[in-house]
Amino acid sequence: MKASALLCPTCYVEYVEVEFDFELDGVILQNVKGLRCPACEEVFTTEQYEAIRKRISV
Ligand SMILES: [Zn+2]
Repeated sequence: MKASALLCPTCYVEYVEVEFDFELDGVILQNVKGLRCPACEEVFTTEQYEAIRKRISV
């Protein structure tokens, strides 16, 4: 069992780590790291979200 595995609480499917373009507050960030549930949507861990915030506030 992988320690880093996270399950989508809605689908009970393991998230896959992905990089994608993400828009926040009108700013498009490229190659943002996040987690994607194969069945619904992308989410961010707290760490990943912090990294996004840093890129925006520079
Ligand atoms: Zn899901």
